[in-house]
Amino acid sequence: MAAHNDVEAFHQALRSSRRILALCGAGLSASSGLPTFRGAGGYWRNYDATSLATVRAFRTDPGMVWLFYAYRRHLALKAEPNPGHRALAALARRNLDFMCLTQNVDNLSPRAQHPSSQLKCLHGSLYDIKCSNESCDWIQRGNFDDPFCAALAPASVDMPNGEPLPLLDPYHRVKHITEDELPKCPKCHRGLQRPGVVWFGEDLDSAMMMDISAWMNAEPLDLMFVIGTSAQVYPAAGYIDKARKRGARIVTINPEAEDEAEMFKVNPGDFAFGKDAAEYLPLLLEPIIGKPNADGEFEMS
Ligand SMILES: [Zn+2]
Repeated sequence: MAAHNDVEAFHQALRSSRRILALCGAGLSASSGLPTFRGAGGYWRNYDATSLATVRAFRTDPGMVWLFYAYRRHLALKAEPNPGHRALAALARRNLDFMCLTQNVDNLSPRAQHPSSQLKCLHGSLYDIKCSNESCDWIQRGNFDDPFCAALAPASVDMPNGEPLPLLDPYHRVKHITEDELPKCPKCHRGLQRPGVVWFGEDLDSAMMMDISAWMNAEPLDLMFVIGTSAQVYPAAGYIDKARKRGARIVTINPEAEDEAEMFKVNPGDFAFGKDAAEYLPLLLEPIIGKPNADGEFEMS
């Protein structure tokens, strides 16, 4: 059997694959310059970033939570999709039986022209705005206002010559933002507007989860890509088990994929490439999507 990182053998497997699933994490957007924030070292100011991504944090200090998200909205707006996003979008255009699940909220896959019918944003989007009142269903999609509102302007400052943003310095005091300075829901007039992302402890969108299950159950799978994520968080890990049971060979692409501590996950017939997704996805998918043109775009099929 070919080695787990044999590109030729992978290309052969890819050519004979029809139903393909991908699960993408922060590593896909890393080379676009977006920090992951989750996991070890994910600090923002002096906050553990995961402690800001909760309903409780929003109830306690919505202004601070909003500053964190306003900063991420600004960063992701300035970032560009990388060749990894573009390669997956090209695969989707060429293969209607390819479904892509992403944990990323940065909107870079849609901006890479990934067809929306073949992309499920598991954790929502930084550019969707919801109501914090749980009994209100108001949602606004595709809000790219930057700054989001006047009080959040300190999160949208561009510093000259790469100087650090004052907001990011925990010793730099930021003016406390009160609830009155944040926009209210235009429907119920009770809740605050909040980022349309899934916070720790919140459920993923149930209609989307049902769509994904239906897609996975419809027919057996040939391949599943696991890209830029350690896939330890529910439901990500579950999708890998399920795809395996549905017949998929697992293809892991992330810089740690070939580390000794990771190799136990690689079953016979699986592939693991310890590479950056932005660099390696175009190469791996080349038999289907071809080479990019001079602008880094893959021709539309
Ligand atoms: Zn509302």
